[in-house]
Amino acid sequence: MTPQVQRYRPTLDEVSALAKRRGFVFQSSEIYGGAGGVWDYGPLGTELKRNVKQAWWREVVELRDDVVPFDAAILMHPQTWVASGHAATFHDKMVDCKVCKHRFRADHLASLEQCPDCGSKSSFTEPRNFNLMLKTFLGPAEDTASQVWLRPETAQGIFVNFKNVAQAARRKPPFGIAQVGKAFRNEITPGNFTFRTREFEQAELEFFVPPDGTDEQWYRAWVETRMRWYRRYLVEERVRFRELAKEELAHYAKSLTDVEYDFPWGWGELESIANRGAYDLNAHIKESKKDLAFFDEANKAKYVPIVVEASAGVDRTALALLIDAYDKQRYVDQNGKEAERVVLRFHSEIAPVKAAVFALARNKPELVERARTIERALRRVMRTQYDEGNIGQLYRRQDEIGTPWSVTVDYQTLEDGTVTLRDRDTMEQTRVSADQLAAVLVPRLIA
Ligand code: ATP
Repeated sequence: MTPQVQRYRPTLDEVSALAKRRGFVFQSSEIYGGAGGVWDYGPLGTELKRNVKQAWWREVVELRDDVVPFDAAILMHPQTWVASGHAATFHDKMVDCKVCKHRFRADHLASLEQCPDCGSKSSFTEPRNFNLMLKTFLGPAEDTASQVWLRPETAQGIFVNFKNVAQAARRKPPFGIAQVGKAFRNEITPGNFTFRTREFEQAELEFFVPPDGTDEQWYRAWVETRMRWYRRYLVEERVRFRELAKEELAHYAKSLTDVEYDFPWGWGELESIANRGAYDLNAHIKESKKDLAFFDEANKAKYVPIVVEASAGVDRTALALLIDAYDKQRYVDQNGKEAERVVLRFHSEIAPVKAAVFALARNKPELVERARTIERALRRVMRTQYDEGNIGQLYRRQDEIGTPWSVTVDYQTLEDGTVTLRDRDTMEQTRVSADQLAAVLVPRLIA
C-alpha cells in the first residue's frame, strides 16, 4: 500500500503548530526559554518515534537471520574518536556576520559576499573550524585526562565491538550489527524544527562483508531494502534515492546513496547508505593495535571485512512522516454541510493510536461502561484511546492525530452487541460485532 500523492502540502508552521497542540513535540525546557536545537517528544510524539524505531527494527533485525542487535554506551574511550577521524576532522566551517551577529555554516551560504539575513556586503568573519562533538568529563576531575565526548554517531560503538559480537554471537561475514541510539552534535545552525538538532537518535546498521567481491552486491541489496521500507510509509514522489558520484565521496567510500525527503524547505537527507570499504575497522586496528581481523576457520583465511552502512535519523524520519501524513480535506458532513478536516494519514504501523473507542453519550452509565470494557479488551492487542461526548468532535480529534479506526458504542450496541467502525481515510462506517473487533482490526495493522 504505497500512499498516494494527491495530498495537501503543509507548511512547516502548520505541522509544528499541530505537533505542539496535540502533544507530538515540545521545545525542550520551554518554561526557561528553551534549549537551542533540542526538542522533547510529548505523549503522541513518543509513540510515533517508538513506531518508527519498531518499523526499522522489524525490517533490519527481526525479519532477518543475518543481523544481530546491539546497544553501545553513549560515552566511549576518547581514542575511539581519534581513530575514526572525528577528533581531527568532524567540524564545520563557521562564519559570523559582523553587522547582524548571526552565525552561519559557511557551506550553507550561497555566497560569502552578502549576509542573507541583513543584506550587508563583505561582513563575514574569516571561516573558522568548529568541532561538532560535545565535550563532557568522566569522573570527578574536570581536567583533560578525564575529558570525553558524547558520541556524534552510534556506528563507532559497533566497530570497536565487532570482534566481541562476531565471537559471542558465533557469526561470520556476511552479517550485520544494528543499533538505535542517541547521538549528539553541536550543530552551528540547528533548525527546521526537528530536522537538525543537537541531540537526536540514529538507527544504524553496519553490515560486514568478506572481501570476496560481493560488497557492491550487498550495498545494492541494502539500498533496495531501504527503498522498499520508505515506500511503504511515505508518498513515493516525495522520497528520492540520490546516488553520489565518485568525486563526491570520501576517499575510502566506494558508493553512497542518500535517501532524501521533499521537505517544505526542499530536499533533506533522511538516511545515508554506503559501501565504506575496510576503512573503519582498519582505523581501529591501527589506533588500538588490536587484531580485529576475522579468521574464517573453514577457509583458514584471515581478513578485515568490508562495511556496508545504512545510517538513518529517527527524528528526521518521524518529522518526514508527520509532514507526509498531514492532509486537509473538504467533505460533506452528515448534515449535508461542506466541512474541512485536518487528517494525518499515517500508515497504521506508524499511527501513535490505532483505535479510539467512544461512548456516544457521557451521561449514560451503561454506554460508558460498555465502551470502556470494549476499549480495555482491544488495548491488549493495539494502542487505543477511550473518549466520550460529541461524536463529530471526537472524530475530528482522532483524524488530527492520525488514528486509523474509531469505534462508537451506541444504544444499538446494548441491544445487539454491534458497534460502528469508522475508517479514518474513507470516513466509511460499518457495523461490526464488538466481539469481532480485534479479529477485524489486527490483520489491518500490518496491511
Ligand atoms: P547533514 O549533512 O544533514 O548534517 P550528515 O550527512 O552529517 O547530515 P550522517 O553523518 O550521514 O549525517 O548521519 C546519518 C543520519 O543521522 C542522517 O541521515 C540524519 O538522518 C541523522 N542526523 C545527522 N545529523 C543530525 C542532526 N543534527 N539532527 C537530526 N538528525 C541528524
